Amino acid sequence: MTQEELFKKLVAHSKEYGFIFPSSEIYDGLSAVYDYGQLGVELKNNIKRYWWDFMVKLHENIVGIDSAIFMHPRIWEASGHVGAFNDPLIDNKDSKKRYRADVLIEDWLAKQDEKIDKEIAKARKRFGDNFDEEKFRTTNERVLDIVKKRDEMHGRMVEALNNNDLGALRQIILDCEIVCPISGTRNWTEVRQFNLMFETKLGAAADGSNTIYLRPETAQGIFVNFLNVQKTGRMKIPFGIAQIGKAFRNEIVARQFIFRMREFEQMEMQFFVRPGEELKWFADWKEARMKWHRALGFGDAKYRFHDHDKLAHYANAATDIEFEFPFGFKEVEGIHSRTDFDLGNHQKFSGKKIQYFDHETGESYVPYVIETSIGVDRMVLQVLSASYEEEKLENGEERLVMHFPPALAPIKAAVLPLIKKDGLPELAHEIKDMLKLDHTIQYDEKDSIGKRYRRQDAIGTPFCITVDHQSLEDRTVTLRHRDSMEQERVAIADLPRIIGEEVSLRKLFTKL
Ligand code: ATP
Repeated sequence: MTQEELFKKLVAHSKEYGFIFPSSEIYDGLSAVYDYGQLGVELKNNIKRYWWDFMVKLHENIVGIDSAIFMHPRIWEASGHVGAFNDPLIDNKDSKKRYRADVLIEDWLAKQDEKIDKEIAKARKRFGDNFDEEKFRTTNERVLDIVKKRDEMHGRMVEALNNNDLGALRQIILDCEIVCPISGTRNWTEVRQFNLMFETKLGAAADGSNTIYLRPETAQGIFVNFLNVQKTGRMKIPFGIAQIGKAFRNEIVARQFIFRMREFEQMEMQFFVRPGEELKWFADWKEARMKWHRALGFGDAKYRFHDHDKLAHYANAATDIEFEFPFGFKEVEGIHSRTDFDLGNHQKFSGKKIQYFDHETGESYVPYVIETSIGVDRMVLQVLSASYEEEKLENGEERLVMHFPPALAPIKAAVLPLIKKDGLPELAHEIKDMLKLDHTIQYDEKDSIGKRYRRQDAIGTPFCITVDHQSLEDRTVTLRHRDSMEQERVAIADLPRIIGEEVSLRKLFTKL
């Protein structure tokens, strides 16, 4: 199965089992907006809990807030979003499709790497055991040509983005002979800047004075509450403020399912530190966040750092944590050293002093900030795509299984009476009622037991509990494990402990 096929299946599976639906589907949908269904919302809540508890519960110097989506419009001038939250866009005149100019170039760069990999694979086949990859890379003329052109274009792109030179960006697209994937032509418009913020009106005034924005990030709600939290919480630097909430961006190119949405959710944490110490904290948070991802157990090779070529207007260091989705390595989380840009600007624009008095040094200063910013929806996509497996079984059959980390699984256990009579359903309900006090549990008595197991595998339920006639006699049940499909006989009284230990977040946290 190609990665593209896998991705299509994942999207279909997400819909079929109630994880994710296209928004407004009966009206033919709304582009790049999605709704979470009955299982999707459980998965998403569990991911948020994993993040929140790691950040706020396990770090004594981090607290959480929940700020409003609507904010004073001057905030977005101070933050730089009104002036600079733009993407460079370019249209193909034949297909009338719109693209991000930088993304077109990045896709072209990735293709060059694929070409090099293909050359290497071909040569390895030809030379067999004697193949020396390093030598081939440094001497093969074709590879050297591709590398030279790729590096030249990469350098030109970084320069054009840093200088905001839209003409130069367009020229790179022409020089690389990039064609529109739809029309196949090179009939491009000029490159223009496009602001990504959604506007709306507050109250009834008809003039422009009441224009406000839907927040494009949750971070600013944290910055403008810095003094409130620091004073009321008696917080001492270094300390952090965390928040989970919706953000809105009028993305030009919205594709790849929930990877790039126009309404999405972020989990952000701003960590306030002494000026001059920010790069040490930047390195610490890079490591801590990477560990958090890897603890999910999807394999370390699925993650990598990608340091930014073009730093945002506020940053003095920035990196992305990228995950290998079916469509390649892409950003799931950004870690940025934002300097004192935000607090400094809010001080300037609001006219209010935003400073911290450091008792240890006897100085007042505007703190520096390290930000960790992760998209909830991209995490959902990460977990879905890493967990999906069409597994070939020893008996030749196939089963579709979602290997969710148990702490994230939407349903923790299913209780299944072997048959619908003889008092088995009553005992099964009793077990479900006991377990549901702590966990999300399903009861299912329809179809054969095999079919019911498959249904639970397909939604990633870690445990199936089967109640049979023996259960009535000795109060034991069959406990089936999702991944190994092993079954064991256990006492009903032991179920809360066995399930509780396996699905607890503690299991993930002990790896951190
Ligand atoms: P990209 O380069 O992919 O547009 P970004 O660098 O603009 O992302 P940030 O501003 O750093 O993203 O936002 C932090 C996180 O928010 C991202 O790592 C991502 O997980 C998430 N995010 C950003 N934009 C979107 C979106 N349109 N849909 C879903 N998640 C998003």
